[in-house]
Amino acid sequence: MGLSLTVLGCDGGYPAPGGAASGYLVRGAGTTLWLDAGPGTLANLQRHVRLDDLDAVVLSHEHPDHRSDVEGLAVALSLSGYRRGLRPVGADPDERTTLPVYAPAGLAGQVYHDGSPALAWHEVADGDRIRVGRLGLAFSRTDHGPPTLAVRVDGDGACLGYSADSGPGWSLEALGTGLDLALCEATYCARDEGRNQHMSARQAATSAVDAGARHLVVTHRWPTVSPEEIFEEASAVWGRPVDQARVGTTWEVAARASDPAEAPPSPGTGTDRVAGDGLTGPAIGSGL
Ligand SMILES: [Zn+2]
Ligand SMILES: [Zn+2]
Repeated sequence: MGLSLTVLGCDGGYPAPGGAASGYLVRGAGTTLWLDAGPGTLANLQRHVRLDDLDAVVLSHEHPDHRSDVEGLAVALSLSGYRRGLRPVGADPDERTTLPVYAPAGLAGQVYHDGSPALAWHEVADGDRIRVGRLGLAFSRTDHGPPTLAVRVDGDGACLGYSADSGPGWSLEALGTGLDLALCEATYCARDEGRNQHMSARQAATSAVDAGARHLVVTHRWPTVSPEEIFEEASAVWGRPVDQARVGTTWEVAARASDPAEAPPSPGTGTDRVAGDGLTGPAIGSGL
C-alpha cells in the first residue's frame, strides 16, 4: 500500500556528466506515471518499467530539461506498435493504443512528434483535478516563466507533491495539507536568490515547512552548485537532514493508515547512495 517515487533524473537545467535532468517514476494503486521527461530520463525509465506499462505521462512545463525525452518516447512507442502490442484484427482501433500525455497549454505545439498517433495530448491547467487509473492528480500553477504546473498525487492512502520549477512566489501549501512527501526544487543556495525564477535550498525547505510536509526531498540542483551546500542550507531550515534526489533512488511512501511498526521494510532501491553522507534513509512512513 502507498506510493513509490523513483528518481529518473534530477539535474536542473541540463544533465551533468552521466546524469539526467528532471524526471520521476510514480507508482501506486496499480498505476504507473512518468512525471517530467527531461533528457536522459527515458533511458533510466526503462531500467524500471516497460514503456507498455505506463498509464500516463505528466509534463510540468515546456522547458527542455523537463520534457525533451517525450520525443524519444513517441518514436519508441511507434516502433513497438504503440501500447499493449499490435492491435488484434477486429479490435477497437482506439482501444489502449495511445498513451495520454498531460501538459500545460502550448507545450504540445513545441514537440516535434506532437502529431504522433502513439500519444494522446491533454491540456491541464491550474486547479484541474484528474484521475489516472486509481491515482488522483491535482495541479497548481507555480511562479515560473512559462505556464508551469506543480502536481499533487494521491493514491493508496498516501500522497506526494512535486513543485516542478518555481520561484518563491509559490509555495507547496498550494498543493494542500498532509503531503507525505514533498519533492521540491532547490536549484541553488540563498546567495543566488532572485537570480532566476527558482527556489533556493532555504526557500524550498521553508515551503515544505509551511506546507506541513512529512518528508522533504530536494531536487533540480544546477550541476554547478554544491550538493553539500544545498544539503546544509535546506537541513538547517527543515530542522533535520533532508534527502537529495539521486538517480535510481526510490522512496516508498507508506499509506497513512498503516502502522509503521508493522510496515514491511522499505530499503529503497537506490544504487548510488553514499553511506555516511548525512542523508537519511529513503524509506519513510506515516510516523516520520
Ligand atoms: Zn528546470
Ligand atoms: Zn523551468
